[in-house]
Amino acid sequence: FPSKLPQVGTTIFSVMSALAAKHGAVNLGQGFPDFACDPALLDAVAEAMRAGHNQYPPMPGVPALRNAVAAKIEALHGRRYSPDSEITITAGATQAILTAILCCVRPGDEVIVLEPCYDSYVPNIELAGATVVRVPLTPGSFRPDFDRIAAALSPRTRLLILNSPHNPSATIWSAAEMRRLEELLAPTDVLLVSDEVYEHMVFDGEQHQSAARFAGLAERAFVVSSFGKTFHVTGWKVGTVVAPAALTAEFRKVHQFNVFTVNTPMQHGLAQYLQEPQHYLQLPAFYQAKRDLFRAGLAGSRLKLLPSAGSYFQCVDYSAVSDLPEQAFSEWLVREIGVAAIPVSAFYGDNFDQRLVRFCYAKRDETLHTALQQLRRL
Ligand code: PMP
Ligand code: GLN
Repeated sequence: FPSKLPQVGTTIFSVMSALAAKHGAVNLGQGFPDFACDPALLDAVAEAMRAGHNQYPPMPGVPALRNAVAAKIEALHGRRYSPDSEITITAGATQAILTAILCCVRPGDEVIVLEPCYDSYVPNIELAGATVVRVPLTPGSFRPDFDRIAAALSPRTRLLILNSPHNPSATIWSAAEMRRLEELLAPTDVLLVSDEVYEHMVFDGEQHQSAARFAGLAERAFVVSSFGKTFHVTGWKVGTVVAPAALTAEFRKVHQFNVFTVNTPMQHGLAQYLQEPQHYLQLPAFYQAKRDLFRAGLAGSRLKLLPSAGSYFQCVDYSAVSDLPEQAFSEWLVREIGVAAIPVSAFYGDNFDQRLVRFCYAKRDETLHTALQQLRRL
């Protein structure tokens, strides 16, 4: 039968991880930590299992977890979301984003993505039968270009997808940029998916500017988070969507027939673990130290470092090292240097090639030292 996604192959993250394994390379490609999570979190989940929390939870998620999420957002961003009608626990951010798109986007609608963008967005929009409108972030700085975003808005625009801190460029949106977007969308009924999975990885004393902080954005936004990123458990696949009640009602109509619910004991364990704010408040310092270690190790090399203001990614310009296009360079790097990275072109629809690759520094210091030793051969 004709493919619904004829352009789609296997995601670059699986491809590069398989290649890293094949060549025994240090895997700084796919974004996941190679260190253990806090044993206290494991204990909390084990306790929940032993206490018998092993059957379906309520469809929107375990109430204790939704309450904890509401309290956290209120403390950090000053907006109160109702755990009953505005917070839903999802199977990671990936399911959250797909479900948000499916619940509000129809064939014929347009959805704006800011390129480069995470690789699930475009296929998700295509599955919904909608038209993808790609607006480039400014090449070089990756800052939003509001004139281009304004020019892309049309009467058919249903949704815009925002991601800050940004994968892959590691930029963060400022409060002024969030306000610009708020002003731009004010006269429209465009909805927003705000992918904030790296919300707790913002460095140098900056603050994460959640869409939840801006009334004119919050009223139209599905704000997406991921416990996998925040608590070093990417394999658990637990995330959240917060959105005004009317949007959440539509979200849950799809969610209930998509996954129905998300695994129960993890939700109980996370609810308990969230009681201690230090568990997420310590994240900026923790990852900033890794960022600084990795950057210091590459200083003086022929790889040019782009800023890394948030997320756990570091992009480098390798044009002083090689003329190969990004995909070919990434394959060469795995084979010859023994380090896996992600070509930034994988985040563009047309494979736009800027001689940039993305490294993930969410790794043990030993892993980073090994990788750096090998990268210094470049
Ligand atoms: N959005 C972005 C920008 C990501 O980098 C990721 C990576 N994992 C996701 C969404 C998906 O998160 P999850 O693992 O919770 O599905
Ligand atoms: N989000 C992670 C990254 O950008 C990987 C997630 C995945 O493998 N799909 O590397």
